[in-house]
Amino acid sequence: MSELAYHMCNQDPDVDYSWEEYDARGIYLCRVCTKCVKAKLANYRPEVLNDSNYLADEPIEEDI
Ligand SMILES: [Zn+2]
Repeated sequence: MSELAYHMCNQDPDVDYSWEEYDARGIYLCRVCTKCVKAKLANYRPEVLNDSNYLADEPIEEDI
């Protein structure tokens, strides 16, 4: 896994803009910037990000 998945956007002097990413239901996921957004969002299922009707009745996985 890329270390960008653990990027500390606020502490990177190269990053002058970062934002909070939310899933399709408006649930906060993580802070991202243009450097790490792909790496971080790759940890989430696509339907969680794009489909507000995604099923949440399956076991929640801790994916760290
Ligand atoms: Zn970042």
